[in-house]
Amino acid sequence: MCGIAGIIGTGDCAREVAVALQALQHRGQDSSGIGSVCGEEFPLVHKLGLVGQSYGAEDMAHLPGPLAIGHVRYPTVGRGLLRDAQPFFHRQPGLLMAHNGNFINVREMQEVLREDSIHLLSQCDVEPAMCLFALEMMRRRRRDHTLEDALAALDATFTRAAGAFSILVALKLDGIPTLMAVRDPNGIRPLVWGQGNGSFTVASESVALDAVGAHLEGDVAPGEAVFFRRDQEPIRRTWRRGEAAPCIFEFIYFARPDSTMNGRSVYGMRQDLGRELARAWAQKKLSADLVVPIPDTARPSAAAVAEELHIPFREGFIKNRYSGRTFIMASPGERQNALRLKLNPIASEFRDRRVLVVDDSIVRGTTLSRTIHLIREQGPREIHLAIYSPPVLYPCYYGIDMSTREELAAPRFVESATEGFLSEAEQRRLEHNLAARLGLDSLTYLPGEALRRVHPGGCCAACFEGRYPLPVSDERRRWIEEDRRCVVQRELLF
Ligand code: SF4
Repeated sequence: MCGIAGIIGTGDCAREVAVALQALQHRGQDSSGIGSVCGEEFPLVHKLGLVGQSYGAEDMAHLPGPLAIGHVRYPTVGRGLLRDAQPFFHRQPGLLMAHNGNFINVREMQEVLREDSIHLLSQCDVEPAMCLFALEMMRRRRRDHTLEDALAALDATFTRAAGAFSILVALKLDGIPTLMAVRDPNGIRPLVWGQGNGSFTVASESVALDAVGAHLEGDVAPGEAVFFRRDQEPIRRTWRRGEAAPCIFEFIYFARPDSTMNGRSVYGMRQDLGRELARAWAQKKLSADLVVPIPDTARPSAAAVAEELHIPFREGFIKNRYSGRTFIMASPGERQNALRLKLNPIASEFRDRRVLVVDDSIVRGTTLSRTIHLIREQGPREIHLAIYSPPVLYPCYYGIDMSTREELAAPRFVESATEGFLSEAEQRRLEHNLAARLGLDSLTYLPGEALRRVHPGGCCAACFEGRYPLPVSDERRRWIEEDRRCVVQRELLF
């Protein structure tokens, strides 16, 4: 998971891109980068760490120009090194590229590039895609590239580069600085655009538009390429048709609640999921004295659970705002230390109470296991856990850091591995066994059909039901899993 933002406007845009990236900081904390287009130059700055602490006046002075793109990175392919930071620059025809997502055939792309003796500088998966795109552009024309060249190159490139991606490219087309925004044919990763103050802004989430005062116009559609230029209407083209399958996990966990994605409020959807979860919990005829969210993601759902069940809502934890997000910390050691810093329980809220704790999901379960231990230390009478998503049973190959099945907690408690959501009986068995292992009085997941009720349209829910909108061959799965095993020594729960 990463975040991207691009702005084309009247003044120097890099400063606004830095602001937009700060609004997207929750999508990646490892590194960031900003590049601009200024005349014939493409200045570029990369930094490790948080955006707000990284860029100074000197960096901004180095990034003039009315077109800039930026990126915040969490590595799912490649390591968290500065050389893997985006955007990337290609000398011919002169372009900057940044993406959010995951290419599932990086090795195949690398082999194609080797045929042309093109060597790569990083292990980041967007670099080979960028090189292929640049090659296709140069095959069409040696200079003075047109918008039609870019569309043809896009089509030729992405018959070879498969994956889930939202991409920003900054380049000159028809002699004019152009911000090109591209979404994969299934629209798995998000991308929205808007305008305001004489600028167009494109970003992973609408909160980045809010931060720079742009008005949200809508999503870049699945399979669409949109070309933004100063003082012109956006040029919208469908470059490849596909079935829309936006990532449902964006709504559950990744996106900020104040974002709007695919026309829906993330906050509103988390509340709807909470209401459905309350109904599932009520069927078990259990009782609780209060509902407590694991902050911050679970708050809207927990509030809806409390409302629906007529149980008081309480803050049981105070979150340290200055600690990192544990899910996106790369090593187990980093995660462990981050959790101790991150959540401090309010002992009086737990003591002698029956608490219903609400959380978004169980992926590896390591953080959750420590959190439950922390609650147990406060002396509650009972701990019930309710999760507002179905069990995560399958890896994600589309840019979310859970790409090996062995690292997931829930599959260890499920006998069959047939596609589709678990049956009610299977889910109950999983809940019972996992609750016992976690030391809980009960565990309730959101049923799969409830997720479908909340999001009835097409979406990717492959990590819950194993149906991948973009097929991933066994060989590609092996490669992706190998890469992640090399990068991160996972701490497993059981
Ligand atoms: S597999 Fe899960 S996390 Fe990955 S894109 Fe699909 S819904 Fe999102």
